[in-house]
Amino acid sequence: MNWSELYWQRITPLHLFLWPLSRLFVSFQAIRRTLYRRAVLTPVRLPVPVIVIDGITTKSTVKAPLIIQVVNTLKAAGLRPGIISRGHPDNHLPPVRVTLNKSPHIAGVKALLLAYHLRETCPIWIGYDRIETAKALLNAHRECNVLICDDGLQDFRLLRDFEAIIVDTGVINSGNGLIMPAGPLRDSFTRLQHTDAVVLAGHQKQLPDIEEKVRKIGIYPLKERFFNLLQPQQTVSAAELANKRIHAIVCSSEMQNFLDDLEFLKLAVTPCVFPEEHHFTAADFQPDEAEIILVSEEDAVKCLNLHDERIWVLQQEYRIDLGLREIILNKLREKFMDPKLLDILVCPLCKSPLIYKKDQRELICKADRLAYPIRDGIPVMLEDEARKLPDEEEIK
Ligand code: ZN
Repeated sequence: MNWSELYWQRITPLHLFLWPLSRLFVSFQAIRRTLYRRAVLTPVRLPVPVIVIDGITTKSTVKAPLIIQVVNTLKAAGLRPGIISRGHPDNHLPPVRVTLNKSPHIAGVKALLLAYHLRETCPIWIGYDRIETAKALLNAHRECNVLICDDGLQDFRLLRDFEAIIVDTGVINSGNGLIMPAGPLRDSFTRLQHTDAVVLAGHQKQLPDIEEKVRKIGIYPLKERFFNLLQPQQTVSAAELANKRIHAIVCSSEMQNFLDDLEFLKLAVTPCVFPEEHHFTAADFQPDEAEIILVSEEDAVKCLNLHDERIWVLQQEYRIDLGLREIILNKLREKFMDPKLLDILVCPLCKSPLIYKKDQRELICKADRLAYPIRDGIPVMLEDEARKLPDEEEIK
């Protein structure tokens, strides 16, 4: 357990001192939300649909797997998603794409983790200003036709087409029930009445009241497994690692959680403790006594430059209610009924504008002589799904 978890689980004189600030913070957020809703302040509408995914608590273990699943859902439907994120809280640099060689002190561990899992298939950009970051991403990746914002719960300036808020009951039940800065909550539970979907993680005890119109989606932990850092498609179970000489790399703040997880999986390990901000080098892993080196996902992204095939990463798999796919795609179908949105789509191959053929429900690329179908209201921007135009077919 790290200091912030301890801080959020207790109520001390400091918390009582901060409590009025929490109330002030909530009132300020409520006033801003009302001003944006009543159009006193003008939110910014981006040219493509925006999906905001964020947690009601400052920490949520399921956000990254949820975003990865949403990205995969969108891609399977033929869409071209991009992700924007704040990056490391101390990052004040202009928008930049997250690549695996970026420092965790700029990109942030969460964005690097998304970049690692999604590789080159979904661009991820970070920046202090979400609107500027989104514009920079769309400028660099003109094929992107939907954006996922990996935070932004309280950034009402960013007009969202769909919003899902994660309620991690594990964090809430163990927390002190207070709102920032005194506790782990980022807003009051009434905020959940003004969202499209609430994603419930953990044991569903002591749930806040949520109105009927807000969809409730469950996310459930499945088995834990390890994947190889160099070849993530290679996975093993804990049982397959038993009887090996295992070193566990732990950074001090998350040390106990990770060691508890490994103990739960009945793995006997030698812990190798490093400071939280440690820059890993190959020298840290030299001792040959270890056949297997285990790391948490958060620490794994700090080891990407090491090229050590002994490194395996603990990963929790999740199952998400299918309802989430259905409500997100329904919302996007509504958006893509707007011809203005279809007009800005470009060919994913040559990036040139497309001709929208309403009757045939196709988007034509003249240069590549390809017709991308609009299937069930969603433009399917995949080369493999596009119809090759025969030479005799004239394009008007
Ligand atoms: Zn083209």
